[in-house]
Amino acid sequence: MSTTETTVLTDVPQQLFIAGQWQDAESGRTLAVDNPATGEILCEIADASPADGRLALDAAVAAQPGWAATAPRERSEILRRAYEIILDRTEELALLMTLEMGKPLAEARGEVRYAAEFFRWFSEEAVRIDGGLSTTPDGANRILVMRQPVGPCMLITPWNFPLAMGTRKIGPAVAAGCTMVLKPAPQTPLSSLALAGILTEAGLPPGVLNVVPTSDAAGVVEPLLRGGQIRKLSFTGSTQVGRILLAQCADTVVRTSMELGGNAPFIVFEDADLDAALDGAMVAKMRNMGEACTAANRMFVHRSVAGEFAGRLAERMGALSVGPGTEPGTDVGPLIDATGRGKADALVHDAVRRGAKVLVGGETPDGPGHFYPPTVLTDVRADSELMRTEIFGPVAAIIPFDDEDEVLAAANDTEWGLVGYLFTRDLDRALRVGERLETGMVGVNTGLVSNPAAPFGGVKQSGLGREGGRVGIEEFLEYKYLAIPYGGSRG
Ligand code: ADP
Repeated sequence: MSTTETTVLTDVPQQLFIAGQWQDAESGRTLAVDNPATGEILCEIADASPADGRLALDAAVAAQPGWAATAPRERSEILRRAYEIILDRTEELALLMTLEMGKPLAEARGEVRYAAEFFRWFSEEAVRIDGGLSTTPDGANRILVMRQPVGPCMLITPWNFPLAMGTRKIGPAVAAGCTMVLKPAPQTPLSSLALAGILTEAGLPPGVLNVVPTSDAAGVVEPLLRGGQIRKLSFTGSTQVGRILLAQCADTVVRTSMELGGNAPFIVFEDADLDAALDGAMVAKMRNMGEACTAANRMFVHRSVAGEFAGRLAERMGALSVGPGTEPGTDVGPLIDATGRGKADALVHDAVRRGAKVLVGGETPDGPGHFYPPTVLTDVRADSELMRTEIFGPVAAIIPFDDEDEVLAAANDTEWGLVGYLFTRDLDRALRVGERLETGMVGVNTGLVSNPAAPFGGVKQSGLGREGGRVGIEEFLEYKYLAIPYGGSRG
């Protein structure tokens, strides 16, 4: 390990962050954080137990009234300062993320900027929370509407975007005046711990954000959700875990925002600009090694251009260099763990067994590290497992189609509805197909939709609520309405 890598790991806090204090787990237990590029342990950090979770929630509950009463400008400035600190530390944060998650440094730097932008965006939103005053239709009463923070929140984040998924939830919660317990993914807790340090430097008061990495997610989270004090859950992760958490939230009627899985269709029509479609495909498929809920999972390409598209995509995918994310020149890092790699491999073998052709990749290399090669499959059959399963790996699956109605039916034939992509030069068709895709987001001639200023989220079983954009802060605010009988008779 290089000296810079060792320094980054020594500098990052390795304890739980509760009530503004760094502390060991009550049980003294630790959790190993692995480097997916080598399979080696990077460090051991405190592993929260349910008792630590309880302490974190107590801290959030105790801090809530004081935090809700702070001036919006104060909350805004904290986020703004944190935004600047994150940008100043781009190199350290990017390296930390690459070490714990595997993505190439260039992508990690991109994520640091993306993550910071959520703080900038929500620092601007914090001072724009407003309400309204109106008159009842009969003129007898006034309706005064005010906005208030929902209260203590549980935030649960996944491992694929360790920094940005945190800032996307913490940003609006801070802006709205909510306190939080953050439970990051056990594979990538270091970025979240670094973030807690940065927010503290930026002036976030003790107890507002509490961070409890744990190897026992279910044991720590369930009692908190059922305890009656959490007012809001914001979760990003699999649909499967999302369903479990929704059921737990139902019992105590906890508000939820759920960013769940996807099965994105990527549609290339016969009139598309093929160069643009290929650029879009590389981004939509290969961003984060395909480990993104927005990743193009099913590439539907018009039969008249499918051969050319597949050949050119295979050429570009085959030219990517696979290796540890810390090495300069690496385009594709390792997958997160052996399970993730095994899943990609099994999906490829299943598709091939059912008739797909491998144009490039498709074979798992020997260790160390959880590497999987960029893979292009063409003539993928509709009954293949990967048509119904998030691949979460660098595997492009191409399915030829003949007409618009057919491709729309196929694209919508899934329980998920996060994002879709379409490539065409025909504006009418872009709008028509964009409207008919059953997804929360559509990329039109682009392979990237994520933006802090846009409402990110899905329909169907891809989730509930939106993150980012003007609506992002709404998820953390309640309405309160005061009926005021002035200016008319008492109603
Ligand atoms: P993935 O399969 O991509 O790891 P998960 O949905 O399993 O996605 O994980 C997303 C987040 O949800 C992680 O922080 C994980 O620790 C957490 N998680 C997993 N299971 C539970 C659970 N039963 N209760 C609460 N959180 C959970």
